[in-house]
Amino acid sequence: MIDSHCHLDLAAFDDDIATVIRRSEHTGVSRFLIPGTTPSGWQRQRQLQQQYEHIDLAFGLHPYFDTSMQPDALSALTHCLQQHHQSIVAVGEIGLDATVSTPLKVQQDILAQQLELATEYQLPVILHHRKSHHLLQQALKQHNFSYGGIIHAFSGSQQVAESYIERGFLLGVGGTITYPRASKTRQALSAVALENMVLETDAPDMPVAGYQGQRNTPERLPLIAEALSTLLKTSQEQVVRQTTANYQRLFFG
Ligand SMILES: [Zn+2]
Repeated sequence: MIDSHCHLDLAAFDDDIATVIRRSEHTGVSRFLIPGTTPSGWQRQRQLQQQYEHIDLAFGLHPYFDTSMQPDALSALTHCLQQHHQSIVAVGEIGLDATVSTPLKVQQDILAQQLELATEYQLPVILHHRKSHHLLQQALKQHNFSYGGIIHAFSGSQQVAESYIERGFLLGVGGTITYPRASKTRQALSAVALENMVLETDAPDMPVAGYQGQRNTPERLPLIAEALSTLLKTSQEQVVRQTTANYQRLFFG
C-alpha cells in the first residue's frame, strides 16, 4: 500500500528515518510520497529519494510557510522545478488555510503562482485545505486547472467531494476517518466510489485514533486502510488494490 502524504523530511524523523521506513515496509507500506513545504525541505527530500527506494516527491510552498520571511522562496521554487520537474510527481503541498495568521490574500497570491508552475510543467497538485474549499475551488476554476491531483486530508460534504472529483482530483483519506466524530466526512466518503481515493498518514501529524499525542508514522497506514474498508463495507485487500491503482493512474497514468 502507498502512503500518499508523509512528511519524512521533517526533523521529527531525523533520528530514526531508516527504522521508520523499514518498519513501515514490514507493515505493508511499499511506497511513500513526501510533499514539499519549504526550500530547505526540498533539499532533504532529494537526499531521502537518493538514499531510499520507492520515494516519490512533490515540491511546493505550504500555506503555513511564511514567505514574508523568505521573499525569494517562489523564485527558488521556480528554479527548483526547472531543474527537477522530471523527477517529481506533483507540485505541493500548496493551498489555503483560513486558520493561520498569514492573510488569505497573500496565500491566494502564492497559490496562484504555484498553480501556474504546475500548469507549465503539466503536473498534478497536492492541495491543503482548512475552511477554504470555496476559495480553493474558485482558484482551480480561475486557472482552468486541468492536471488534477490530491485533496490532502479530505474532510467535507459529499457535494464538495464530488466537485473535486469532477475536476480530476482524488481524495486523500487519512486518520480523520478513524474518529467516530468525523461523521460528515465519513458519510461523504461512504457515498463516493473507492476509485476516487488514496490513503495517507500525514506523518508526523494527524494521529490515528488510539495514538493521540504520539508521533504519527507511515507504519499506521494499515489502520487507515482497515477503517476505510469497514466504512465502505469492502475488504482491506480491495481498498489497498484500488487505492494503489488510483495513485498509479494519477501520477504515472
Ligand atoms: Zn501535509
